[in-house]
Amino acid sequence: MCRHLGWLGEPTTVAALVLDPPQGLLVQSYAPRRQKNGLMNADGWGAGFFDGATPRRWRSAAPLWGDVSFASVAPALRSHCVVAAVRSATIGMPIEPSASAPFSDGHWLLSHNGVVDRAVLPPSAAAESTVDSALLAALIFDRGLDALGDTVAEVGGADPNARLNVLAANGSRLLATTWGDTLSVLRRPDGVAVASEPYDDDPAWQEVPDRHLVAVEAGEITLTALRGHR
Ligand code: GLN
Repeated sequence: MCRHLGWLGEPTTVAALVLDPPQGLLVQSYAPRRQKNGLMNADGWGAGFFDGATPRRWRSAAPLWGDVSFASVAPALRSHCVVAAVRSATIGMPIEPSASAPFSDGHWLLSHNGVVDRAVLPPSAAAESTVDSALLAALIFDRGLDALGDTVAEVGGADPNARLNVLAANGSRLLATTWGDTLSVLRRPDGVAVASEPYDDDPAWQEVPDRHLVAVEAGEITLTALRGHR
C-alpha cells in the first residue's frame, strides 16, 4: 500500500509538500503511521506537478530517502497543483520508474494506493507499465475523470478484494477516492491538501470515510458517498 499526496492552491514547492513536513511522504517512505498493508514504501516514488497546464513528472524505482538529486532540486520546483507518491510494490508487480505513480494521460496526474486483480481490468495499449495501478489508471483515463467514482465502484464490484484509493488532479481539479485505505484532507488558508495520512499534527486534518469521493475545485471541498454506498 503506497502513500500519496495531492495539493491544489497557491503555488508552493514540491519540497515544502513532500520533503519538509515532519510526517511527509519522505518520512512516510520509511515510517508511515497509518499504513495497513506493507511496512514501508521503498520501491519507488514519483513527484508530479503542473507547469501551467502541462503535467510534469519525476519518477524513480529507488527509495525516496536516498535521492539526493531530488532533495536538491525539489525546493526549486514550484506549482499550484502537485500529485506525489511513495510506493510499496504489490507482490509480483514490476519495480521500474514507469510503475511508480503518478501516471498521466497528458492532462491528469493519477496515483493509486491499493491493489486490484488485473484480470478484472481491460487490457490497454495506453498503460505505462504492467503494474495493476497503471492498468487501472488507463481505464480511468479512458472513462474520463468525471466518472472516477463510478469506475472505482465498478472495479470494486468486480474484485471484492480490491483496494482502490485513487488520487488525481488536472491543475484545476483534485479528485480522490477512498476504497479500503486511509485518506485525510487539510484545508489551509493557501489551499487544500489531500493525503493518505496527515503530513503533520495539525488538528484541522479531517479523515475521509471509506467509499467516498472527495472533489476539490475553486477552493470548495465536496464529499460524496460512492454509488451503492449512499
Ligand atoms: N499495487 C500497486 C503497486 O504495486 C500499488 C501498491 C500500493 O498501494 N502499495 O504499485
